Amino acid sequence: MLIATDILIRDNQHALANPSEASVFWLALAAAQWECGRLEARVREEALKVLSGGSDLLQWDHDPKLLRQRRRVLERLDGDVRGSLAGRQRQDVLDDRIGAAVLPDRRGRVGHAHGRVRDVAQDAAVERAHRVGVAAVGVAAFGPLDLDPESASYGTVRSTPKRGWQRAPVLALVRAGLDVPVAVDTDVGAAAVGEWRWGAARGVRVAAYVTVGTGIGAGIVVDGHPFHGLGHPEFGHIPAARDPEDELTGVCPVHGDCLEGLASGPAIAARWGRPSEALPADHPAWDLEARYLGRALATLTLTVVPGRIVRAGGGVLPG
Ligand SMILES: [Zn+2]
Repeated sequence: MLIATDILIRDNQHALANPSEASVFWLALAAAQWECGRLEARVREEALKVLSGGSDLLQWDHDPKLLRQRRRVLERLDGDVRGSLAGRQRQDVLDDRIGAAVLPDRRGRVGHAHGRVRDVAQDAAVERAHRVGVAAVGVAAFGPLDLDPESASYGTVRSTPKRGWQRAPVLALVRAGLDVPVAVDTDVGAAAVGEWRWGAARGVRVAAYVTVGTGIGAGIVVDGHPFHGLGHPEFGHIPAARDPEDELTGVCPVHGDCLEGLASGPAIAARWGRPSEALPADHPAWDLEARYLGRALATLTLTVVPGRIVRAGGGVLPG
């Protein structure tokens, strides 16, 4: 089976044959995958080749200002791709890793690789839906999302620090070209429904699904339906009681030291100078992490009283 990366490589052969376009392709793809927490080894390798070879910078030497900007974003991307987030705030990382992908290429085209990623994903989804005859589609997207079916912007990403995703109409994009019902919810809301229907939360009426990775989120499912109030829950941004031993100011771009600001993957990396995957199981990081998550899960338990809590994550925590 072809996965999205194979499809992108297959459909961009003409660009990959041209060294300057190929370098933009690999950097944009690495930045996009890193952003999703799913950087593949082969993409990482190609991006590092471009970064260490310096070939991308050669295209910029006609303009000293652009060259300086480009060098700066490439240095940061290099750090991300190598897995080091030491000492940097999350907002800078978000700006720079996306900036690396959307700076214009030598022909002045901005972000064509990002647009291409979206187009190919959409084409693949439509093609597959027609081929296998799907009856309905569910979209699970990162938030914040407008999930009010009465709203004109239903299914659209709301305010987000992810540049290029502000007001992105994810539901409309997927609906285009499909003549089957399409529903949308947050990634954690959809995962909660999946666990309730097929997974670890079968047999209870109310369940919560908690994920700890680049961010922290919880989806709550009640009788098979994802729970919403005026919007979807924002569990990652509940206030967290700072541990007396903790000197980190917190990495949430909005609140600083909320739960996500103190206990997410980027918070761990900022506090200890190494990504969580590089910390051994007996590192003091994990006692502190357990205290933050334990308090947060106690808050969730006391507030929602779920029949089960399913915990997942993007590789931040040891098993
Ligand atoms: Zn926050």
